[in-house]
Amino acid sequence: MPEKTIFKRIIDGEISADVVYDDELCLAFRDINPQAPTHILVIPKKEIASVNELTAHDQALVGHLYLVIVRLADTYDLAATGYRVVVNTGTHGGQTVDHLHFHLLGGRAMQWPPG
Ligand code: 5GP
Repeated sequence: MPEKTIFKRIIDGEISADVVYDDELCLAFRDINPQAPTHILVIPKKEIASVNELTAHDQALVGHLYLVIVRLADTYDLAATGYRVVVNTGTHGGQTVDHLHFHLLGGRAMQWPPG
């Protein structure tokens, strides 16, 4: 049995998180090490390691995750000024937790290109 990721442990209630949204398909909570005034992680409750593991079965789920991001951007007043959605994938992408997650970053101007 592979070890649970930290995000699966949050989903299962084994460790706490500052949850800002919860439904049957996904969970959103504040990043423990925020990189912007607002830094929220949106994750599916289904265990998907990364974007690389998405299949056609996940099409509606990914759409749902994005609509939750839109809703959170509105709730946290990011929509008007703008924000960034980041999905780090694999080693070169800088992914450190092997459970699909969308970073919602806002509240400051972002730089481009990313590091
Ligand atoms: P990645 O580097 O995989 O794209 O993003 C993982 C994110 O998870 C990082 O921004 C990191 O700060 C966050 N993170 C890691 N462990 C925890 C935790 O236990 N609780 C919360 N809320 N965030 C975490």
